[in-house]
Amino acid sequence: MNCIFCDIASGEDKKNWVFETEKCCCFPDIDPKAPVHLLLIPKIHISSLQDLKKNNIEFINDMFLSIPKITEKLGIKSYRLVANTGKDAGQSVMHLHFHILGGRELGWPPG
Ligand code: 5GP
Ligand code: ZN
Repeated sequence: MNCIFCDIASGEDKKNWVFETEKCCCFPDIDPKAPVHLLLIPKIHISSLQDLKKNNIEFINDMFLSIPKITEKLGIKSYRLVANTGKDAGQSVMHLHFHILGGRELGWPPG
């Protein structure tokens, strides 16, 4: 399977990772939409939130527990977590990822 985030998660090039555990890793978005724009991904291929299964829930637990550690490490007190799910919601990479956006005031509602 050809998946850019599986390639990243394989860890061949970790130099810009800001955080990792055994189950997930976090790195800057290549096209940032805010001063802080990180992507947090599981190290296994899960296509989207819609594809979550009981047997991969431990990856999600680990990702959620990682979020406050990541934001604390970066000194970000306010941030937004986004999981675009499906084409109409703007999901362009079919490997589950959470956007962590911060470092500026964020408008609501999003477009
Ligand atoms: P989506 O549109 O699926 O919600 O988010 C995918 C995100 O992945 C986009 O914000 C896009 O800029 C980012 N992205 C796509 N390819 C790469 C890549 O090769 N490296 C990094 N760091 N980010 C990527
Ligand atoms: Zn993948």
